[in-house]
Amino acid sequence: MSAVASLRQEFPLLAAASDLHYLDSAATSQIHRRALDAVVRHETGSRANVSRGTHRLAEAADRAYEHARLSAARFLNAASPAEIVFTSGATASLNLVAHAFGSTLRAGDRVVISVAEHHSNFVPWQQLRERTGIELALIPVTDSGELDLSCLSGLIGSTCRLVAVTQCSNVTGAWTDVAAIVAAACKVGARVLLDGAQAVQHGPQDVQALGVDFYAFSGHKCFGPGGIGVLWGRENLLTALPPFMSGGGMVGEVTPEATTWAAPPRRFEAGTPPIAQAVGLAAALEWMMGLDWVRIHARENDLCQQLIGGLLRIPGLRLLGPVSGRRASIVSFDIPGLHPHDICQVLDAHRLALRGGHHCAQPLMAAFGVEACTRASIALYNDTADIAALLDGLGVVLRELT
Ligand code: PMP
Repeated sequence: MSAVASLRQEFPLLAAASDLHYLDSAATSQIHRRALDAVVRHETGSRANVSRGTHRLAEAADRAYEHARLSAARFLNAASPAEIVFTSGATASLNLVAHAFGSTLRAGDRVVISVAEHHSNFVPWQQLRERTGIELALIPVTDSGELDLSCLSGLIGSTCRLVAVTQCSNVTGAWTDVAAIVAAACKVGARVLLDGAQAVQHGPQDVQALGVDFYAFSGHKCFGPGGIGVLWGRENLLTALPPFMSGGGMVGEVTPEATTWAAPPRRFEAGTPPIAQAVGLAAALEWMMGLDWVRIHARENDLCQQLIGGLLRIPGLRLLGPVSGRRASIVSFDIPGLHPHDICQVLDAHRLALRGGHHCAQPLMAAFGVEACTRASIALYNDTADIAALLDGLGVVLRELT
């Protein structure tokens, strides 16, 4: 059995569906068996609420939850587990920053995002603009959908307080030049929020080396359970921020007159957190930290180039993203005259799971001049058979739909 074939067996859904070509991992990755087992073990052996109980089960749940925080801190190379806030996903993490950090901004302060953002890093800033009168500026994209950093010095000026950008586009697969953004932000004392939703699937991250201030991701995109995400923030920044949501677990003291806040990360974890999901996520992250990412990247890149090469041979097909360079294995394309939903439906009949639509990136679609596109996303459990099946499937699409 090849290395990928045996890896595939570690994912229960893929192991049970040998004929499935799953090429939609940018939407959600398949869950690794260890993550699923950890959830079941926790729910059947240690299920209790955290930070409230004194019985043994509650203490076991507390230990498991805080251990999960340690794993997430290691995965991101955070300076301290206190910098790890568990949320319900990247969207919740991004909204948390837009509200908590956003509440420190005033009319005229500038937030810089990009045209390539997922709606979850776009709409919260538009809403903040409505609430407070901040100025929202957009980094434009090049013809291949990469952030056009030639405009950076003009956009990131003295009124800029925050730059919030994706680390990797969920449409084009282009990696952002984070160092250039951090350097420009540093010059004017602005903070940097990185949306790592698409990056984490491709290996552990180092927030200290990246030099950013906040980092958001979701567990379901890195082989963990759904309903869990992380917001990482520098401890001094989190400590200075007010809570976003309020309720149980995030307070110091509550009196009829006023409430004081717990220190981070609890300040930002109101209510019962997703405990079993955090435990499952930690198992996925621990598993990922033991993998050989240099080899995995080489394989993902080979598959990506094999796919791009095949796509470019299709007459009229337009690749929406860079052909090569610093790109992840996410490949989007447009075939004029064919709707992505129709393409995906025909492919589904051949057991190919791809995504067609605007990918929650309508400003980027507009920049490309399309309403929607078809996206194949390649993860560590894909192999050449998946790519060959997709290229064959597209042959069928062209025969049946044109
Ligand atoms: N940012 C990017 C770049 C994404 O691809 C996604 C998910 N498609 C999100 C944010 C939002 O993630 P979630 O839906 O898990 O909150």
